[in-house]
Amino acid sequence: MIMYQRVILVHYHEIGLKGKNRGSFEQRLLKNLKFLLEGFPVVDIHRISGRLVVFLKEGTSLHIACACEEIIAQIPGVARASCGFKCPRNMDDIGQAAINALAEVQTFETFKVQARRNHTDFEIDSMQINRDIGAILCEAYPTKHVKMKSPDVQVDVEVIQNSAFVYAKSIVGIGGLPVGSSGRVVCLLSSGIDSPVALWRLARRGANCIGVHFSGAPVTSDTSEYLVDDIAHVLEKTGCISRIYTCAMGDYQREISVLAPPPLRVILYRRLMFKTAERIAHIEGARALVTGESLGQVASQTLDNIAATDQSVNLPILRPLIGTDKQEIIAQAQQLGTFEISSQDAPDCCTLFMPRSPETHAKIDAVLQAESEYPLENWVEELASNACVHEYNSPLLKRKN
Ligand code: ATP
Ligand code: MG
Repeated sequence: MIMYQRVILVHYHEIGLKGKNRGSFEQRLLKNLKFLLEGFPVVDIHRISGRLVVFLKEGTSLHIACACEEIIAQIPGVARASCGFKCPRNMDDIGQAAINALAEVQTFETFKVQARRNHTDFEIDSMQINRDIGAILCEAYPTKHVKMKSPDVQVDVEVIQNSAFVYAKSIVGIGGLPVGSSGRVVCLLSSGIDSPVALWRLARRGANCIGVHFSGAPVTSDTSEYLVDDIAHVLEKTGCISRIYTCAMGDYQREISVLAPPPLRVILYRRLMFKTAERIAHIEGARALVTGESLGQVASQTLDNIAATDQSVNLPILRPLIGTDKQEIIAQAQQLGTFEISSQDAPDCCTLFMPRSPETHAKIDAVLQAESEYPLENWVEELASNACVHEYNSPLLKRKN
C-alpha cells in the first residue's frame, strides 16, 4: 500500500470574519500551533487557501497523528481539525489516498465524497471527482454504501495548486480566537471549580491570561498553591495560561479578623484580593480582572456584595460565569480536565477566619470604615511585590517567541 504524508488540516471560521485583521489572526494561530505542537513530529505548518496545514513527518503513526489532532482541536481559534493525507494531484493517487483514509475510520456503513477545487487549473471538476473517487471507494469497500444525506463518514478531497489533501476523520474544535489576539487580563484563580473555567473562557476569546492566586499561607498549608499549579499544567497544554502570581495572604487575613467586624471579613478579604490583583494587572499591563463568580452562588456573590468589591478597583471586572449554573460549570471543568483537581479539598484564603454569618448586603460606608482601621495600600504593595511568579509553557511569553 502506498503511504502518503500525513497532514492535519486546521479550519477556522470566526477568524475568517475578521476582515482586515484576518492576516494577523492567522499569524497568531500559526505561531501558537507551532509552539504548542513542539512535542509532535511536525515538519512544518503552512497557510494554504484559507486553512492551516500541519505536515507530519514521514512514517508518523495514526495513533500519534490522532493525538496531535485532538490537541489541535482544543486550541483556541480552531473550529475543526481533520487528519488525513497529502498526495500527488491525479485521480489514481487521490483514489488511493481516499482508500487509505477510509481504512482508518473505525466503523461506518455509509459514506460520501466531498471534493473542492481551489485551483481550476485541475481539469476535473468537483462533481466529477466526487463520482470517480466514489466509484473507486465502492470497489475497494464493496459492503459499504454511498449515502448523500448524513452519511456516517464524509471523505473530503481538496485539490490545491500542486497537490491534493484527502481526509475522512474530522473533529470539532473549541472555536474562539487564538490566544494573544485580544490583549491581556489578570484572572483571580482559586483552586476551586469555577475560576479555571472562567479563565479558559477568556483564553478562548483570545486573551492572554495571567493568574493570581491567594493562599492562606503561612497560616494554612500551601496545598492550594500546588493544586493551582496542577490546574495550570492542564491549561498550558493548549496555551491558555502564561504566568501565575501566588500571594500568601494568611497573615493579612488574621489582622483583618482581629480588626474588623466579623460579618464584613469576607468582603474585606475580597477587596484586598481585588486590589492586589489590580496592582499586578498594572505591573503586567493587563486591562481587566476576571473572576469565576456566578450570581447568588454563595454569600459573597449577591449584587450588593459584588458592588462592594467592585468599588475597590478601577479596572473592569469580567465575570464570564455570572449567568452560568453550577452544573454547566462542572460539565465544562470536566471537559477541560480541571474538575478532578479542583474537587480536592485544600484550605485557601477563603476558608480562613470565616465568620459564622457573613454579610450578604454589605453597605459601602461600613466597609470603608472597617478598612480605614488598617494600612490597606501598604498591604497591597507588600502582597504584590512578595508574590511568587511561575511561568508556564506559553506561546505568549517573550523568551519563547
Ligand atoms: P471557585 O470555584 O473559583 O473557587 P467559588 O464558587 O468558590 O469559586 P468564591 O470563593 O466566592 O466562589 O470565589 C469567587 C471568585 O473569587 C473565584 O471564582 C475566583 O475568581 C476568586 N477567588 C476566590 N478565592 C480565591 C483565591 N484563593 N485566590 C484567587 N482568587 C480567588
Ligand atoms: Mg472557591
